[in-house]
Amino acid sequence: MSIAKQIISIQNDLAHTNAKLIAVTKTRSIDELNLTYQAGILDFGENRVQELVEKQAILPKDIRWHQIGHLQSNKVKYIAPFVHLIHTVDSLKLLMEINQQAIKNNRIINCLFQIYIAQEETKFGLSPQELYEILENPILPDLKNIQIVGLMGMASFTENRGQISEEFTSLAHLFNELKSKNASHQLDNVRWEELSMGMSGDYTIAAALGSTLVRVGSAIYGARD
Ligand SMILES: *Cc1c(COP(=O)(O)O)cnc(C)c1O
Repeated sequence: MSIAKQIISIQNDLAHTNAKLIAVTKTRSIDELNLTYQAGILDFGENRVQELVEKQAILPKDIRWHQIGHLQSNKVKYIAPFVHLIHTVDSLKLLMEINQQAIKNNRIINCLFQIYIAQEETKFGLSPQELYEILENPILPDLKNIQIVGLMGMASFTENRGQISEEFTSLAHLFNELKSKNASHQLDNVRWEELSMGMSGDYTIAAALGSTLVRVGSAIYGARD
């Protein structure tokens, strides 16, 4: 099926949910990205900084670029001038560097905290405990050029739908807990609006459990090499 048809089919799956589609374009060609743009998608996700920067330079300027892969502090400066949302904040140190680079570019950069929900050793992210420590750190309110807008998580790589469902449910619970707590003592630079969960194999589960951003690659373009 064509890219445009795949996108329509996924958007049908997401109808009547709160989830918006981010096209995960890592490893895909400029032609494939152009077809995606022509199909009406403006949210593109990449996991490598260098590839993201190269593609951003070539493609239309109204595309919203999402950094969805692990981000090293020393790479923040390359995406800071334009990135729309960084999904993978997993330390206060990284958040402070994003704030510094945002100041240099005279902008505010939107961020999600990546939470570790999978039963796997390889995935990056914070535990809920580590997240609460960052949220209580007295430095956080001073980071005026970042805006925390929510959480991101990746489920285990498994066929077990029950397990995936449990992992997304735990993330959604944490998100709702933060939302209700924050209502009482709100920091200016923290809002709980976006819940980034769901990929090609599990986006329907994620959308049913409250995801607002699904990150889908191979279901649009086919398997990556
Ligand atoms: C590659 C990637 C995706 C998309 O994976 P697909 O299975 O191709 O949909 C989503 N999120 C992250 C963080 C990724 O690195």
